[in-house]
Amino acid sequence: MVQGVIIDNDGCLININPATGDMISKVKCTTPEQLDVIIDTAKSSQKEWRKKSVEERVDILKECIKELTDVSDQMIQLIVQEMGKPIAEAKEEMEYAVNDQDAYFDILLESIKPKKYGKSTVVRHPYGVVAIMSPWNYPLGEIMLLALPSLASGNTVIVKPSEVVPETGALLVKTLQKCLPPGVLQVAQGAGSVGEALVKHNGIDLVAMTGSSATGRKILEAAAPQLKRVILEMGGKDPMIVCADADLEKAANDAVMYSLSNAGQVCCSIERIYVAETVYDKFQVLAKEVAKDYKVGNGMETENNVGPLVSMMQKEHVKNQVEDAVFKGATMLHQSEIPNDVSKNESCFYPVTVLSDVDDTMKLFTTETFGPVVAIAKFDGSEASAVRLANDTEYGLGSSVYTQDTEKANRIAELIDAGQVGINCYPIEFMGVQCPWVGHKHSGFGYHSGKDGCLQFSIPKTIVSATD
Ligand code: NAD
Repeated sequence: MVQGVIIDNDGCLININPATGDMISKVKCTTPEQLDVIIDTAKSSQKEWRKKSVEERVDILKECIKELTDVSDQMIQLIVQEMGKPIAEAKEEMEYAVNDQDAYFDILLESIKPKKYGKSTVVRHPYGVVAIMSPWNYPLGEIMLLALPSLASGNTVIVKPSEVVPETGALLVKTLQKCLPPGVLQVAQGAGSVGEALVKHNGIDLVAMTGSSATGRKILEAAAPQLKRVILEMGGKDPMIVCADADLEKAANDAVMYSLSNAGQVCCSIERIYVAETVYDKFQVLAKEVAKDYKVGNGMETENNVGPLVSMMQKEHVKNQVEDAVFKGATMLHQSEIPNDVSKNESCFYPVTVLSDVDDTMKLFTTETFGPVVAIAKFDGSEASAVRLANDTEYGLGSSVYTQDTEKANRIAELIDAGQVGINCYPIEFMGVQCPWVGHKHSGFGYHSGKDGCLQFSIPKTIVSATD
């Protein structure tokens, strides 16, 4: 994905507010020498941390969640400042990070506790030191998703937050550290090169990255010589299928909402909307009407429900995709206003954009967009075409199908090659805490969340006792 990272001559990240262009802070990048020290500390702390029972570790993590709740206002402000999302969405991210964790911890305990089979006991063995590389789009939530199961499984953790949102990651680590033994959780700051140094360091035992598929590939290559364990949650190009018999108002509403959520900067954003030809015209009218209710502006102001893009480079990337689509024949149905009172030219706002007649010759349908764009195409309405078009991508993260025919919906859902499929909904809307978060094809390599996800952060070991 495209970022706007600036590092000054003193080796500091220049942390910019994308809504105003103002500098928030300078954050010192971790040097290779400092990384050695951090990793040594993590190694020695892990010896004691792994000796605690999983119940003890989870009790400590529950205390960490309470600490996090205490800084929620500060965290929400920081997320909006660094990343730009509307304050309501930052609050949701905070709530997601602290609510329902007891239910998740129950699943975690159940998943990783020892299991006895006759004379054999299968225990879960921690990997050791886990390096977590996180993206900027959910600067708090994405770290939590990987850090909690890593720590509960008996690993120690080094978090490298995205270079675009370093302070949110730093505040999170500082807050959780209050309840954790020294050295169990630490932070390293910097751009991709610091992540790469972590991946290549022989003190790191497991690498867990959430980010783009391009970075995932680089990490796999860097981890290969040491056959290092790797978990990758990567990009998406999620399809939405709207059949002729769908509830069109709901479909149009969801299509717009989940194309524009977080200004479209969501791994499972709806990025390709295929509408049956008999309802295509009506759908376009509905989608355009819904999109008119979205207002772009500074996320700190509550009337704005679409914030800026995270950086100028990200804005350029989205602008290029839209221009390419229009040049190749897409129809511009709607483009919103953007704030015109921004004092600096540096603002990252991009208008809410609704395009129809999009096709697979356009970058908008082949490359992850990550912007506030609703991209609509027509299809013949058949099940075979729905499945073919949905799967016509290297990605396989989320997807959805809208139809009132339940059997047809299930047949299509069965054949879509994606980790999550929503039937008449956006999958994330109703996913239970028991469900894993999975990327098929180039969207994932390993996974997290739910019972299956918890198991990824430790390795089974069978102890067979003749005397038992
Ligand atoms: P990115 O790939 O640029 O960076 C992700 C993290 O990896 C950052 O911390 C970055 O510094 C680090 N990194 C970069 N190069 C590295 C290298 N060579 N070695 C080790 N670490 C390196 O991603 P981004 O722009 O921060 O985030 C947006 C991307 O994340 C999108 O593609 C989005 O779809 C994806 N994402 C996926 C999920 C999911 O659950 N599948 C969730 C959120 C975001």
